[in-house]
Amino acid sequence: MAGLITELLLPGQLDRAAELLSQGEIVAFPTETVYGLGANALDPLAVAKIFQAKGRPQDNPLIVHCTGVEQVEGLVREIPPQALLLMDRFWPGPLTLVLKKGEIIPEVVTAGLDTVAVRVPDHPVALALLQAVSFPLAAPSANLSGRPSPTRAEHVLQDLQGRIPAVLDGGETGWGVESTVLDCTEYPFRLLRPGGVTLEELRELVPVSFGAAEPGEEPPRSPGMKYAHYAPQAEVFLVSGPTAADKIQELSESFLAKGQKVGVLTWDERARLYPGLTVLSMGPEGDLPGLASRLYHLLRRADELGLEVLFAEGVPEERLGLAIMNRLRKAAKGREIIT
Ligand code: AMP
Ligand code: MG
Repeated sequence: MAGLITELLLPGQLDRAAELLSQGEIVAFPTETVYGLGANALDPLAVAKIFQAKGRPQDNPLIVHCTGVEQVEGLVREIPPQALLLMDRFWPGPLTLVLKKGEIIPEVVTAGLDTVAVRVPDHPVALALLQAVSFPLAAPSANLSGRPSPTRAEHVLQDLQGRIPAVLDGGETGWGVESTVLDCTEYPFRLLRPGGVTLEELRELVPVSFGAAEPGEEPPRSPGMKYAHYAPQAEVFLVSGPTAADKIQELSESFLAKGQKVGVLTWDERARLYPGLTVLSMGPEGDLPGLASRLYHLLRRADELGLEVLFAEGVPEERLGLAIMNRLRKAAKGREIIT
């Protein structure tokens, strides 16, 4: 597929994007979370192109994007009443529900699982595109596998230029972190991936389990969560706790002594604690939605600046902080220090 010239389409050229999708091609498009790389979810050959373009492992299933509950009803075996309640409250929005899959969904979409992940995106361009084509769109994030998810069309081009026919540019995405993934095939429902809709919000409506499986219990089945993700080229260290700044200063000295380029992800108010380090601003202290929206851009920025080591300050694991820490842990590939 390499060697294509990727068309950069504006929302006024949505018909062109719909035409490509109808011809069995793949197109990147904006959603309220991150850019997705879409294909006709009912066409296995089209969906296979997504895995090829991203270099995505075949056993990592895709989220199917729909216009609304009615379209979802045609794709799944059943919708539990409690799941309907969540759809009613959070759709369109950053909540993905895992349901028992109908026959119509090809195996390549669900990586052979008997469940399918579905959601309705809350973005005018995504919804207009879904309306323009008559089929649901299977769409993972539009990045090369393992890289930070794209929150701007230019991020998509950085990764997939020449590998996909087109990207529909809808400006910067709003949330910046991916959707929450909730398994609704067991009760209580199980949180598989924290995201835009918070655990606290879900628990106001339904009981939700989250965390390590009990001994003897099956581990949570979200195949994608076992892969390294969201990683810039720099080695990332996630440092939390009351004396995080001292620890970061101490650790950075040995890297600086080796002549390495060292950066730190920190709140604006704390930037002064890191003289000598390249500061990537997380924004005003405590603004979790603001941080979520710029997190992936900051990780890509670390690459542009040629950083070799990046210290990231941890944030409290509540509300959106749970999703942010989940992504930072994956970027850090296990290098986590709690002071
Ligand atoms: P991405 O689209 O790249 O943000 O990743 C989608 C996430 O949803 C991955 O973590 C997948 O493993 C997860 N997912 C998709 N379909 C299913 C499913 N049927 N069961 C469990 N997890 C799923
Ligand atoms: Mg992804």
